[in-house]
Amino acid sequence: MTSTELAKKFNVSRGMITKIWYDSNLKGKEHNTSHTTEIDICGQVFGKWTVLYKTDKRNTGGVIYWHCKCECGTEKDVLGTSLRSGRSLSCGLHSNISKGNVKIADILDAANISY
Ligand SMILES: [Zn+2]
Repeated sequence: MTSTELAKKFNVSRGMITKIWYDSNLKGKEHNTSHTTEIDICGQVFGKWTVLYKTDKRNTGGVIYWHCKCECGTEKDVLGTSLRSGRSLSCGLHSNISKGNVKIADILDAANISY
């Protein structure tokens, strides 16, 4: 999606979209070691996950795994893309989240397949 399309979709100026992109990428660019721009999400909360720290693990697409702690105390390495897209919201042991769906999303991410 281009900035023009985004501007149209959210009914804002193209300059605004460019600024948001620039701001959100700024941190990632400074520490960018792979071809994937990764925003520092340390300390952020996604669903029941709290991001503790960045791991050295990457999937085949170069996406960073973040070490997260679930509300229930379970700790796991989760892909940054899964966290930000909302596909992984907890350790998967909670009744309101389908364990199967989370697993499939993880596999697709690991294989770097867009769906
Ligand atoms: Zn949990």
